[in-house]
Amino acid sequence: MDEFIKLLDNELKYLTHQIIDDTVYIHIASTREEVKCPFCGHMSSQTHSTYERSFQDLPIQEKKVKIIINNRKMFCNNTNCDHTTFAERFNWLAHKSKKTQRLEDEIVRLSLNCSSIAAARFLSENTVAVGKSTVCNL
Ligand SMILES: [Zn+2]
Repeated sequence: MDEFIKLLDNELKYLTHQIIDDTVYIHIASTREEVKCPFCGHMSSQTHSTYERSFQDLPIQEKKVKIIINNRKMFCNNTNCDHTTFAERFNWLAHKSKKTQRLEDEIVRLSLNCSSIAAARFLSENTVAVGKSTVCNL
């Protein structure tokens, strides 16, 4: 399972997983030692706290995949920065997004040749929970 997670980002580690009904829940954490403040670009290695953030990823073995990351909140020590803390961000997961970039790309790829309703139906049958409006937005 760690290899699946490393395909998403080499600086992630697999912690544990559970399979409940048609969904695989994978718990992960970031192993990045320094995290860049998105507001000022200053690097920080001081963790303030962690919180759980969950999002959907590509299906595995016809099961939906929900990833739960122990997302870190870091201190920004740059005295010129307007923010004292910030959440770690990832280039494969848009800010506040509930889906990975690679899953969004797959939804777009499948949707290009059919209507959003047909795409949503097809994706749901193929173990990605997605609605028509999400397909349209993407
Ligand atoms: Zn900063």
